[in-house]
Amino acid sequence: MHYTGTIWRPPYEASSLLLEVTAGCTHHKCKFCTLYADLPFRFRMSPFQDIEADLKEAQKRYHYFYGRKATRTFLTGANPFVLQFERLMKIAELIHQYFPEMESIGGFARVTDVTLKTDEELAALHHAGYDGLTIGIETADDEALRFMDKGYLAADILKQCARLDWAGISYRFFYLTGISGAGRGEEGARLTAAVCNRLHPTLIGANMLTVYPDSGLYQEIKQGNWKEESELEKYREVRALVEGLEIPTEFAALGASNAFQLYGVLPKDKPALLKTLDGIIDTVKEDDLREYREHLPHL
Ligand code: SF4
Repeated sequence: MHYTGTIWRPPYEASSLLLEVTAGCTHHKCKFCTLYADLPFRFRMSPFQDIEADLKEAQKRYHYFYGRKATRTFLTGANPFVLQFERLMKIAELIHQYFPEMESIGGFARVTDVTLKTDEELAALHHAGYDGLTIGIETADDEALRFMDKGYLAADILKQCARLDWAGISYRFFYLTGISGAGRGEEGARLTAAVCNRLHPTLIGANMLTVYPDSGLYQEIKQGNWKEESELEKYREVRALVEGLEIPTEFAALGASNAFQLYGVLPKDKPALLKTLDGIIDTVKEDDLREYREHLPHL
């Protein structure tokens, strides 16, 4: 298989067929992000030949690893959904040629990748198997989105994800706890919950901000332009997010950036999640949480 750099995938894509169609990120500007720092965005060098070669190889090997046929493909790279409609359709055609039983194709997507497609193209992509996109919205707090250079605002999240809803393409959100900065965590969470409540994410996955020295955000902090939330403020922020969510969805905080792992199905598990979060906020010491953060290796 052709893979470039570190391959990032959400935990729930662990048994998906990981197919590289792009490498890096087209945006490459978010101040907190160090994931694809050394990797400029590119579509595969000999795109369709390489993809076809990988599909041939996967066809021979996938079932040895997983004991079953592949039913889900995860396109790797920070935002493969940015690719032109025709390319995405050709990729889907190749996947179905080698894996006729493939049920769905997902990948990371930016809100702005959806903007580039017409409604008709989105509907055709859904028909071709595109479903279950993972969108790192991070927040719907415009002040934080502007400061971090995310390249879109809350209104864009609402508009573009409503178009995905219309087209039948499901999506999961990644939320970045801590992105609003000191004193604004709970407000950022409430703004995000209000936007999520108007959409249909099947899961909201919360990761906690860890500032690494090679990030633009680290420089902003050093220059006194931004202040990090305390660890306990981050937990109050997660609490405000969970409390504010009124839609049926899964809530997860399972990645290593969270010192405490949380998972629940809303609304059923909301009281239990809030009780757990209250317990953390009331009993865990800031210093212990900070120590966990400081010893967290690169994500
Ligand atoms: S957070 Fe996502 S969109 Fe922003 S630079 Fe990193 S990979 Fe690209």
